[in-house]
Amino acid sequence: MPNTPPKLTRTVDELRAALAEVRRAGKTVGLVPTMGALHEGHLSLVRASKVECDFTVVTIFVNPSQFAPTEDLDSYPRTFEADMQALTTCGAELVFAPADEEVYCSGHDTWVEVGGVAEPLEGECRPAFFRGVATVVLKLFNMARADVAFFGQKDYQQAQVIKQMVRDLNVPIEIRVCPIVRAPDGLAMSSRNAYLSSEARVRALVLWRSLRLAQDLVAAGERDAKAITEKMREVILTVEDAQVNYVTLADPETLQPVSRITGPTVAALAVRIEGTRLIDNHILTPVEAI
Ligand code: AMP
Repeated sequence: MPNTPPKLTRTVDELRAALAEVRRAGKTVGLVPTMGALHEGHLSLVRASKVECDFTVVTIFVNPSQFAPTEDLDSYPRTFEADMQALTTCGAELVFAPADEEVYCSGHDTWVEVGGVAEPLEGECRPAFFRGVATVVLKLFNMARADVAFFGQKDYQQAQVIKQMVRDLNVPIEIRVCPIVRAPDGLAMSSRNAYLSSEARVRALVLWRSLRLAQDLVAAGERDAKAITEKMREVILTVEDAQVNYVTLADPETLQPVSRITGPTVAALAVRIEGTRLIDNHILTPVEAI
């Protein structure tokens, strides 16, 4: 039998009323925050929530406060009908898709600033980004009051920032981080892949190639971070039109760069291909840490 479409809510009151019933029935609630333009990466989070929780809420909200004025807020892909179809197939029970004014009421002037873990990498390239992300995620947590929230390792630093915020502010929610979903050729799924021409999409495979190179180098015994990141950069720069924002090997908890690999290390990179900014990462584990 085909699944019934998820219930669509647009206001916080509607969301809370729907969830109050669910809680009265003693069900656990899983929350999957997204900006829409859903793909298999997002849907893997919905499936993880359905495995762990009795009831799954997906939020679809392109959060203006995490975009700098020069970024792609206006052109960010919006595919609401297709998203609802995909969520029906996956069996999500509820969608919260508020208007901007519902989330940021007039006069909104409170912001969440997470410390050290938000500073390097994305924090350096996009100075207002994590402030916007942490603020909207905390607001969504407060609106839905879910038991568990699901995030993707694709945005590795973002997941660490949210975990830090939840710890520091005693937010009563469990955070799960789910593996990166890749296309069969290795490209990490991303809503922004829609910006890539078919030629640029092929060039974009260099992100995953460089992460695999890092993995191979570590497997072969290389432990010097600079030697590894230089080789990764070389590979990336063989591709026409590639601009490296950063290629870093970092501590997986603090995100601070490491100079030697002595345990599990996150290789993280941000690269522009034909103007589209793509991020990816991979955990490198030396044999001695397995
Ligand atoms: P976004 O809509 O880009 O804000 O992403 C919403 C959630 O989906 C975030 O927790 C992302 O990390 C996660 N996500 C995006 N792409 C992927 C992917 N390829 N694999 C796993 N999770 C993903």
